Amino acid sequence: MNVKRSTAILLGLCPRCRQGKIYRTLFKMNEQCEICHLPFRREQGYFLGALYVYYGLSLPIFLSLVLWVSTWKSWSEYLIVFPALLLYVPFIPFTYRTARIIWIHFDRFFDPE
Ligand SMILES: [Zn+2]
Repeated sequence: MNVKRSTAILLGLCPRCRQGKIYRTLFKMNEQCEICHLPFRREQGYFLGALYVYYGLSLPIFLSLVLWVSTWKSWSEYLIVFPALLLYVPFIPFTYRTARIIWIHFDRFFDPE
């Protein structure tokens, strides 16, 4: 376990051994760590907490896009939201994945077993 927690989060590695990958493809999560066999989903509805992380990650990105779009033209606030939403779509896989990885690490840090 010579990898720092922050590096493990960035690389999507297991919170216990920090070697096994949490995701096997872009969207497919492993059920458990391939190295230490730690289950990544503890119970039904486990990733509900990841929604808070997702919100925390998405809001700054979305607000930055709104500010950027607002420099294009002097549109009303309602019109700015739509192009900002379209521009946000490519960020969804990244924030979704990262939110789950951060949630697993957060949960295992405060309740390891
Ligand atoms: Zn592991």
